Amino acid sequence: MPTLLIKHAYIVTMDDHQREFPDGGLFVRDGFIEQVGPTSELPPEADEILDLNGHVLLPGLVNTHHHFYQTLTRVVPPAQDANLFNWLKTLYPIWARLRPEDIFISTQTALSELALSGCTTASDHLYLFPNGSKLDDEIAAAKETGLRLQASRGSMSLGESKGGLPPDSVVDTEEHILKDSQRLIESYHDPKPGAMTQVVLAPCSPFSVTSDLMRESAKLARQYGVHLHTHLAETEDEEQFCLDRFGHRPVGYMQEVDWVGEDVWFAHAIWVNDEEIGVFAKHKCGVVHCPSSNMRLASGIAPIKEYRAAGVNVGIGVDGSASNDGSHLLGEVRQAFLLSRVKEGITGYSLSNDPNRKLMTAREALYLGTRGGAAVLGRTDIGSLEVGKCADFFAVNVNRLEYSGGAVHDPVSALVFCQPVRVDYTVVGGRFVVREGCVVTLDERKLVEKHNQAAKRLLSG
Ligand SMILES: [Zn+2]
Repeated sequence: MPTLLIKHAYIVTMDDHQREFPDGGLFVRDGFIEQVGPTSELPPEADEILDLNGHVLLPGLVNTHHHFYQTLTRVVPPAQDANLFNWLKTLYPIWARLRPEDIFISTQTALSELALSGCTTASDHLYLFPNGSKLDDEIAAAKETGLRLQASRGSMSLGESKGGLPPDSVVDTEEHILKDSQRLIESYHDPKPGAMTQVVLAPCSPFSVTSDLMRESAKLARQYGVHLHTHLAETEDEEQFCLDRFGHRPVGYMQEVDWVGEDVWFAHAIWVNDEEIGVFAKHKCGVVHCPSSNMRLASGIAPIKEYRAAGVNVGIGVDGSASNDGSHLLGEVRQAFLLSRVKEGITGYSLSNDPNRKLMTAREALYLGTRGGAAVLGRTDIGSLEVGKCADFFAVNVNRLEYSGGAVHDPVSALVFCQPVRVDYTVVGGRFVVREGCVVTLDERKLVEKHNQAAKRLLSG
């Protein structure tokens, strides 16, 4: 059983007491945390010892929404200046050309970016399977990177000819979707603490999936105890679509198809009213905040403060790389922090003299990116640095130009207030994925070359 000792770091545990140890460390055995606390109280010996003096060390960030394949279609000119529906309609025909090897290479690209930004667990939502592509391609690619994966078996069954948004060429039959979903759960889902791969069922959105598939996916997921995920209430266009087609607003429609519960989490959830926030709270549904994507597509600003006040679990997601156009999770935590303040400004913060009206703090934003994300995914084995939890963490050397003059006052807040950088170390289950600022599980230079070739081929048809 290999052991790892980290010492002399500034440790942020994110435990229930929000403990921090300015000269602290971790003792890790066989992938799990055996001790956390002041360096002086930790065992002196281990198979590997790392002195992280000058580094801030946090629990690994948890990315709760992404579409890895979209790294291949970042910054596509015709999709640069569009709202969600036009952006999708521009990109669907390009995505219809994806091949299995594209799923593989884009997964490795997105996960490398995520690892370099402090992420240790990522959820991905793959909902197109053209030309023989499978979720298996993504799972195989993720294994090589060393990050934990919540692999969402996405699906689309409502094509244009039946009143849906996507072209018929990218939708599938319900029978095949459900059969493949069952196969994937049985082949890959690991429910145990420390699982590297879990499977999630994730019909794509109200405008690309039939009500029947929503209901049947929920039944199948509950039969196996796996979670459910979808996009919801992302834009006003979607709200209108739901009213026209289903006679409900998006949240009412979810109730109608049995999609509420603590096993369900929604991406975006921007266009909701107070009553609908109450529905999420009552049924313990989780919400993913994707601030960059919401700004990029001019979708709106999610009511994060209201969700938190109502007791709804909120995590952070970078969302698909074609609407961000990156996968920097620490950067996304910063976006959530800044956008929350924009929303305060819009609703009159500067005119308010109410001392109880608080701005989101840097530590609160980091909480959303760690504990919040773990709660949204329904994982109790990650999200904080506590005895018995997975040894998933990242560390940043704050003695650098970007944090100079800031980290000396508050090294933890500096990670959010100052411009985010590449992290120095990312460790998943006690194994190094990033060491001294470089991904050690893959060759980054070769990856960029192959990824660019695939992106060019995809656009050229
Ligand atoms: Zn998305």
